[in-house]
Formats: sequence, structure tokens, C-alpha cells
Amino acid sequence: MKHSPLVQGLIDAFTCLPGVGPRSAQRMAYHLLERNREGGRHLAAALGQAMDGVRQCERCRNFAEGGLCPVCADSRRDQGQVCVVSSPADVIAIEQSGEYRGRYFVLLGQLSPIDGMGPRQIGLDQLEEQVQAGSINEIILATGTTIEGEATAHYILEMVAGTAVTVSRIAQGVPMGGELEFVDGATLAHAFRGRRPV
Ligand SMILES: [Zn+2]
Repeated sequence: MKHSPLVQGLIDAFTCLPGVGPRSAQRMAYHLLERNREGGRHLAAALGQAMDGVRQCERCRNFAEGGLCPVCADSRRDQGQVCVVSSPADVIAIEQSGEYRGRYFVLLGQLSPIDGMGPRQIGLDQLEEQVQAGSINEIILATGTTIEGEATAHYILEMVAGTAVTVSRIAQGVPMGGELEFVDGATLAHAFRGRRPV
């Protein structure tokens, strides 16, 4: 027996989630249809609102619902100190460590030309504009130790060569590249205190 068109459409839609194949998608769709239609309606509404309403911060590319994200809009934060991370999840992890008082720049990816991710795709032209405008004193690299993370860090180092911007790197031993969220706050706080100039 085949699913009816609407049920099949719902199952197919769930497979856009990471790690969700057809079987899990069917389980989710059936669960909502059988037992939780109210939850399903709520999910649909929340998805619609978030997909339309969540944009990118004009300054740091983090998720934002206005022009600027809460960190960039906060005058008590050091706006000249910029931690470069690959994903918004990294920002949340660092914020939860409570150690950092600067702002961020969120790449939403890593340099990976083979996957079509060049400097512009990850906003490095925008970061360069901010460097050239003299609005950044220090860049803290938290792009991780994968090949892509290293390539991204290297590109940024070349970008700031000859400027007054100092560059440091958070202590090694922290798995990164969208994985910061799995590191506990104390370890992250330690990594920030132990950052080294590069
Ligand atoms: Zn921002």
C-alpha cells in the first residue's frame, strides 16, 4: 500500500532534517497525524515564522530578527574584539561559557572551494571591509582544526597582514567547526583564557 499524497508529502518534507531518513520521517509524520495534531500545527506555524523572520545580522551574520543581533546591538560588549566562528551554534556555546565579552563574526561554513565555498560565500569580504574600516582591534580565531578550519584561519591571517589587527587563536584541544556546542562551558572558558597570538 502506498501513502496518500498528503501523507507522502509530509514524510518527504521531514527528510530535509539532518539524520532523518524515510523510516524516521514516516514515524514522525504518523505520530503527529495519529496523536498530536495540535503539536503538528504548532510546529508548522513555528517553522513558517522562523523561516520568514530569522535573518542574518548585518554586522556579524549571526541569526538576527532585526538589523543587528543582540550581541552587536549591545554597547557594553567590546565591539572591537571579534571572535570568528563557523556557525551560530558556536556563538551560543561560547556565550554560555560566560567568558567572552567581545562580539562575533559567523561564517556559516568554512572555506572549501571544492564544495563551492569561497571567501565570499562565507562572508570574508564583509569581514575584510570591517578590518579595512578600522573597526576591529583583535580577531580571535575559533574556526577549528579541520583542514577547512585551518584554511579559513590562514585566509584571515593573510587578510589582516599589514594592519594593526592582532590575531589570536583559542587554545587547541577543543573540537570545533560547528562542534563547539558539545564542549562544556569550563573547557571553553579555559580555551579563551589560553588563546595564543598567531
Ligand atoms: Zn551581530
